[in-house]
Amino acid sequence: MPLSPEEYRAPLGRAAQHAHDWLDSLPDRPVKPRDGIEQMEAAFERDLPEGGTDPTEVIDELARLAEPGLMAIGSGRFFGWVMGGTLPAALASDWMVSAWDQNNGLRYATPAAAAIEERAGAWIVDLLGLPQGSAVGFTTGGTMANFVGLAAGRGAVLEAAGWNVNRDGLTGAPRVTVLAGAEVHSSVELALRYLGLGEPTKIAADRQGRIQSSALIEALDQTTGPVIVALQAGNLHSGAFDPMRETIEAAHKRGAWVHVDGAFGLWAAASPRWGDALDGVDTADSWATDAHKTLNVPYDCGVAIVARPGAVQAAFTAHTSYFIRDDAGIADPMDRVPELSRRARGIPVWAALRSLGRSGTIALVERLAENARMLADGLSKLPGVEVLNDVVFTQISVAFGSDERTRAVTQALIADGAVWMSGSTWAGRDVLRISVSNWSTDAEEVAVSVNAVARAMDAVG
Ligand SMILES: *Cc1c(COP(=O)(O)O)cnc(C)c1O
Repeated sequence: MPLSPEEYRAPLGRAAQHAHDWLDSLPDRPVKPRDGIEQMEAAFERDLPEGGTDPTEVIDELARLAEPGLMAIGSGRFFGWVMGGTLPAALASDWMVSAWDQNNGLRYATPAAAAIEERAGAWIVDLLGLPQGSAVGFTTGGTMANFVGLAAGRGAVLEAAGWNVNRDGLTGAPRVTVLAGAEVHSSVELALRYLGLGEPTKIAADRQGRIQSSALIEALDQTTGPVIVALQAGNLHSGAFDPMRETIEAAHKRGAWVHVDGAFGLWAAASPRWGDALDGVDTADSWATDAHKTLNVPYDCGVAIVARPGAVQAAFTAHTSYFIRDDAGIADPMDRVPELSRRARGIPVWAALRSLGRSGTIALVERLAENARMLADGLSKLPGVEVLNDVVFTQISVAFGSDERTRAVTQALIADGAVWMSGSTWAGRDVLRISVSNWSTDAEEVAVSVNAVARAMDAVG
C-alpha cells in the first residue's frame, strides 16, 4: 500500500501531546529519573516483534515506557555537567528540521537549509565579534567542533612546513607539537587522538585553571617545528577564561595555529561584561562552541568556526563525481564538517537567535552568570560550604570539608531529586560541580536549589 501523507497526522499529533505532557511536567517533577538503567532495560526487553504496529500505538508505547527513565535535563533545577535546556523557538524549529528531512550537505540540493545555516553562522560570528567571513560548520557538538578546528590547524601548520597531509598522511611528516593548558578539556585530547597528533604537551595552569602565559611563551620558545596551541574559553570547574591576547600573539610570532575551545564559554564574548576576560579571542585561528549548551538549542549542535575558510575546506572538502556543486564555486555545508549526510542542525540556531535577537541573546548569557553568582552566594552562606572558584561565569565548584563528606553530600543531593548537580574532582579535591546553563532557571529555582543542598548537608550530618 502506498504511504499516504494522512498517515503522519495521528502519530505526529500524539507526539506533540506527549511532548507537551513532558514539558508541562518539568517545573514540578524531580530532576532525576525515577527508574534506573536496569528497570529501563527490562521495560524495553522484548524480541523484535514479527509483525508491525500502528505508528500511533508505537508513539504511545514509547512515551509510556520511557517516561520513568527520563532525566529532566530541561528543568530549571538541572545543573549537571554543562547542559542547556531548549528554547521554544529552537525546539519547534527542530521538529520542522525532522519533518523537512533535508540532508544539508550541498547548497544546490537543499538551498533553504544551506541559506538558513549560512545566516545562523554569520549571526554567531557577528555576535561573538569574530572575524567576518569566517567559515562556520554545524557539528554534532563541541567535541567535533574541536576536531574541525584542530584538523584545519593540522593541515595549515604542516603545509607551512612543506608537508601535504591530505596527500601524504602523517607517516614521515614533521612532528606537530600541540600545547594546551593543564586543564584542557578531554574532548580536545580526543580530537587530537582522532587526528593522529597524540597527547598535547600540558602547560601549567593557575588556581582557576587558566593557562599560565609565561609558561606557554617559554614552551613556545623551546619548541621547534609545526605548533598548534589549544586555548580554552570557559573552564569546566571554574568557568575561567585562558588569557587570550598575549598568548595568541606569542603563538602567532612562532607561526603556530591557535584554536580556542569555547564550548560554553565563548558565548561570553557576546557581552561587554567579559570584554576584558576575552580580550583578543578574535585573533585566534579557529574556535569551537556548542549551541546545545549556553544557547539552549536541542541536541545535537556544535559550531566550528575557522577564520580562514580555505584551511577548513582543505581538510574537509570531498571530491566525488556525484556531488553537484554550486555553479559559483562557493563552498558547500559539507566542506566545513566531517559528515557528508547530516540533518540541518543549524536551523534551530537560526530560530533561537531570531527569537532572542541580539539583546535577548546577551541577556540570556548574562542571566545564566547572574544565577550562578546568586547560587554561589547562597551556598557560601551555608556553614561549612567552600566555594572553591572565583565565580566568573556559569560554573561553580563547591566542597563540604573532607573529600569523603563532599562525596556523601553529592550522593544525598542526587538521591533527594529536587536538583541535579554532578560530582567531580578539581585541583586534587572532590567537588560538587554546578553549571547554570538552562535559559529557564529563575531566582526561585536558585533558592530551591540552595535549600536542597542544605537538606543534603543535614542528611549527611
Ligand atoms: C562540553 C564541552 C566540550 C565537548 O562538547 P560536546 O558538545 O559534549 O561534544 C568541550 N569543551 C568544553 C569546555 C566543554 O564544556
